[in-house]
Amino acid sequence: MPTIITHAAVPLCLGLGLGRNIIPRRLLLAGVALAMLPDADVLSFRFGVEYGNVFGHRGFTHSLLFAFVVPLLCVLTGRRWFQAGLIRCWLFLTVSLLSHSLLDSVTTGGKGIGWLWPWSSERFFAPWQVIKVAPFALKKYLTPAGHQVIVSELLWVWLPGALLALLLWRLRRR
Ligand SMILES: [Zn+2]
Repeated sequence: MPTIITHAAVPLCLGLGLGRNIIPRRLLLAGVALAMLPDADVLSFRFGVEYGNVFGHRGFTHSLLFAFVVPLLCVLTGRRWFQAGLIRCWLFLTVSLLSHSLLDSVTTGGKGIGWLWPWSSERFFAPWQVIKVAPFALKKYLTPAGHQVIVSELLWVWLPGALLALLLWRLRRR
């Protein structure tokens, strides 16, 4: 995985670029939360679930089904709280959640993504891996390898995200 903070980059850059009138603050916060949500599956390690299990890391919480259904449930239950239209809420939350497994699929480590759960337990990667996989232990970020992870995420996620936000902001200002 990229670090949990970097998973927030997609909704943050999109939301800030599109502006509060299109993506209200509550919707933006929900997008950030959903972009981080799939990695809650690391808690399964505490219960002895193996990494490669569908209920393990990068399993069902990283599936396409999860990415489409969870935003739908959020929109149906909390649309008024988001203060935006149903389609817009669902689209933004789906893009936010789906971005998580897409970013994971371009990392250099781990077991791949269980995109096709529950139809298949096969794990997938994107055709190319460019983001250095983040370690689970925080103290590893203080090592040279940890620094490489941070630089890699800045280069492949935050920099394009900031450019996209800037472009959207410019288009909005016209
Ligand atoms: Zn993940």
